[in-house]
Formats: sequence, C-alpha cells, structure tokens
Amino acid sequence: MNAAIARAVEAYRAEILKTFHDLHGLPEWGLEEHKTAAYLKARLAEAGIAVRELTETGFTAEVAGAEPGPSVGLRADMDALPFKNEAGETYYLHACGHDAHSTMGLWTLKILKELGLVKRGRVRVIFQPAEERLVGAKNMVAAGAGQGLDELYGVHIRPIQEARLGQAAPALWHGGSTVAEVTIKGRAAHGARPHLGVNAIDGAALAILGINSLWANPAQQWSAKVTKIAGGGVASNIIPDKVVFTLDLRAETNALMEEIAAKVKAACAGGAAAVGGTAEFNVLGSVPAAEYDQEAVANLARAIEAVLGPEGLLEPIHSPGSDDFHEFKMADRSLKTAFLALGADATPGLHDPHMSFATEALLTGTKILALALAHRVA
Ligand SMILES: [Zn+2]
Repeated sequence: MNAAIARAVEAYRAEILKTFHDLHGLPEWGLEEHKTAAYLKARLAEAGIAVRELTETGFTAEVAGAEPGPSVGLRADMDALPFKNEAGETYYLHACGHDAHSTMGLWTLKILKELGLVKRGRVRVIFQPAEERLVGAKNMVAAGAGQGLDELYGVHIRPIQEARLGQAAPALWHGGSTVAEVTIKGRAAHGARPHLGVNAIDGAALAILGINSLWANPAQQWSAKVTKIAGGGVASNIIPDKVVFTLDLRAETNALMEEIAAKVKAACAGGAAAVGGTAEFNVLGSVPAAEYDQEAVANLARAIEAVLGPEGLLEPIHSPGSDDFHEFKMADRSLKTAFLALGADATPGLHDPHMSFATEALLTGTKILALALAHRVA
C-alpha cells in the first residue's frame, strides 16, 4: 500500500506542485476564500469526488467505500494572512502554509480514490475557512463538518527550528488561548470629592495586581497578562467610573486554562470589590488546547515511519502556538484525533511575509496522510 501510494504521488509530482502554486496565487482572508474554494471544488469535480457545501466558503469532500467501516477525516485549512505594504495598503499572503494543507487535502483524497483504497467506511476532507480568525473550525463544527467521524487528522507544516524536511511528528501539542475583556465599574464623582465616588482605575489596578500575583503549577506552561487598558474620560478632574482592559491567557491544557480563568475572575471581582466597584469578565475568543488519542497518534506514527523511515519519526512536538483544529474534539469528545507536524524547512518562520518552505514536503505530507487514512479504510 505504501509503495502504491508513493508511486502515485511521484507520478503526480508536477500536478501537485501546480496545485500548490495555483493556490499560493489565490491568497484570501478568512471567510472570504471564494476563489480558493471554487478552485478546489473544480479539481474535486474533475476527479468525480462529491462535495458538500457547509458554510459560505467551507465544504467537505468525501470518498465512500462499498462496505461499512470507520469514517475518518482530514482537516485542511484554506485561509491566508493580511499584511500591509509600504504604502500602508492591506494585501494577503499565504505565510502560514494553509495553501500547502489544502493541496495535500485535495491530493490525498484524489489518490485514495484513484487507487481504490477506500474499500470500507469513508474518508472525508474538511476544507476549513478562517483558521487564522479562529472562527473557521467553530463554524464548520456547527455546520456538521465533523458529524459521524470516528477519527480526524490535522496537518501543519513546521518551521525549520521544529522539524526538518524528511521529519515529522504524529502529534503537535498546541496550547490553549483565551482573550477576555474585563470591565471594572465604579461611580463617577467630582475630583474634589473622591469619597462620593468609586474610582474604577483603583479597582482595575488592584485587579491587575491580583492577576499578576496568581499562580498555577509552574511545571506546566501558562501565562496571564493584560494587553490593553482604557479608562477615564476627557476631563482629568472627574473620578472615572469605568475601566476596560483585555487579557491574553495561555495554558498547556484545557483544565489548566479553566483554573487560570477562574483565578483571573476572582482577582478581578476582588480587586473591584475592594474599592466598592464591580467587575464583568467576558471571553472575546478562545482556542482549546490539544487533546489527542493514542490510537490515532500511533496510526499516524506508523505512516510517518513507513514513508520517512524510523529516522524521520520525531517525538511529539510541543508548540506555544494555537490551532482551532481542536474545536472538533471539544464538540465531540469521542472523536479520536492526531495531528501531523510536517517538517518542511519553513523559514524564517510562520506568519512572516518572507516565509518559504521546501515544496518537497507537499509530496511527503500527501504520502503520509494518504497512508494513515488508508490504514483505516483499505
Ligand atoms: Zn497556520
């Protein structure tokens, strides 16, 4: 099976690279991936692969076997990133490799179909919009993209510091992140009569002191910090009645994130209460931390080893970054997941406007993903 997949991928080398260059030339911001989606759907239609449209730009493509069996999925994100040029105009660029992920998603499915490797169950590729905006996975989950799946794999090319071309890891441990907005409310008063008011800035100062004094297990990665603050009005002789600040919270696990968020809330409530004010805590956005399953990780590891040799199989990688892939797991805890951290020699780094990577990784990634999925349905 491995040899057949490898032969097919090599036979399509030029076409796979063309798909990537075509998609690279269609960089679109999250939720606006119209040209990207149209391009991918056209290629799928040519291959006779059925597509299901789920959101404005998000869709799934599926190849089903003749016999009943497991439903396995691969999630490929499609969106690019916004940058500003010297004139200050916004332009979009694939600086995170999502064009590579879509290319691998398309060709994995095409090759599985062509080789007749989906004998039982089904293989579904989820073409997901807006990963960078952190809403794409949530929208696709709500639209039913993960419904009925037993197993789901993700893929992301890695910067050169984490993995080299010819190496890959079967799990990429993303941390969770939460952005929250805190509003401290007091009572306005004349600057000459502060005792008649409640100074929201005093409440915020105490709340922030509390946040900066909180602790969670130092053996785990986490952080909680204030990233924006606004308070007071035009006049400087009025006791301010409102302060709004935002927080960026990071945690290695979802349980740790819950603990930190609860401690932050308590610090805000306590700080505000100390001066007679109140605190409101609102989550503006969040991404869950990774939770993987041994069975899926082992299956992916087996595919990596078969394609890259034992020397190419890396230990799971811990990343300070996030990925909304984990929304699929949060929505269905019985879904088994693993994530291919694909060595691609990406330099100087992801999200850098000068990012480039070794396109040979498109071929190794397609081979690994096709083999991992084929293990389940062939
Ligand atoms: Zn990315």
